[in-house]
Amino acid sequence: MFNNVTHCSEQTYTGRFAPSPTGPLHFGSLIAALASFLDARANHGQWLVRMEDIDRPRCVEGADERILECLVAHELRWDGEVRYQSEQLNDYEDVLQQLLAQKALYACECTRKQIKATGGVYQGTCRERDLPPMGNALRLKCDQPVTRFTDQLLGPITISDPHALEDTVLRRRDGLHSYNLVVVVDDIAQGVNHIVRGSDLLTTTAAHLTLYRQLGKTPPSYTHIPVAATSSGRKLSKQNHARSLDNQRALQNLQQALKFLGFSDIANHHNSISALLNAAIAAWQYNKIPKRHEIIVDGAESTYHDAPES
Ligand SMILES: [Zn+2]
Repeated sequence: MFNNVTHCSEQTYTGRFAPSPTGPLHFGSLIAALASFLDARANHGQWLVRMEDIDRPRCVEGADERILECLVAHELRWDGEVRYQSEQLNDYEDVLQQLLAQKALYACECTRKQIKATGGVYQGTCRERDLPPMGNALRLKCDQPVTRFTDQLLGPITISDPHALEDTVLRRRDGLHSYNLVVVVDDIAQGVNHIVRGSDLLTTTAAHLTLYRQLGKTPPSYTHIPVAATSSGRKLSKQNHARSLDNQRALQNLQQALKFLGFSDIANHHNSISALLNAAIAAWQYNKIPKRHEIIVDGAESTYHDAPES
């Protein structure tokens, strides 16, 4: 039984995994890759991979290749070509021009410091100032931001965090396209209609949905899965020294990721990766996945052991 196939009877399911090539994959990224892969395959869908390398200075030379090798070692095979954000700058500019023509964008010259001084949430100070786009940030007017949506795992969600509902920056002052812009433009360009990702991105969904509405596009469905954390509020990440995945232990890595996602019953019953993945595809259902924002894992090991803490 799949509870996430309701509105895609004609359209092919298209999902994706979108890592940033800022370093090798770790246990936390494997969980996101595996969950999106299993959801796509269980729905007979496509699974795409996209390199989120828009922030070039943060990217590490060769990290994209190592990420792809790691996916192959774990037999998470993607469909089609890998899309690189750094090659889509014209797409992002085209959408900005469209939004400027709709008068849905405005230029803002406020610094982070100025915004902090007025309480930390941007109040739309530059909306009526008609500043030139060049050399300034571009923000989306969010008069009536989307605040409610239904998450396929977590159910009805209401976003009330004022930071998530302020006029979103789509292009920074230094010219860099923002995550909120590129993720939506890429997903539209790639026909992505189902997104499975970590719940650390739950609140940003409000900005994404507001942008879909402004562009007149149908948004994808969203499934936000728990993230692996080393302690409460500390997501496992490169910044807190998550250990990179060892490709030689791909089977064990996948078993641990499946346990994390609530599939302990099948995790230890298969001794080849393909048998394990096939069993996981057959067993995939949302009511097994913990409806939690984070699950604490062993920070030193960067792995998941049974007996979850709360
Ligand atoms: Zn401003």
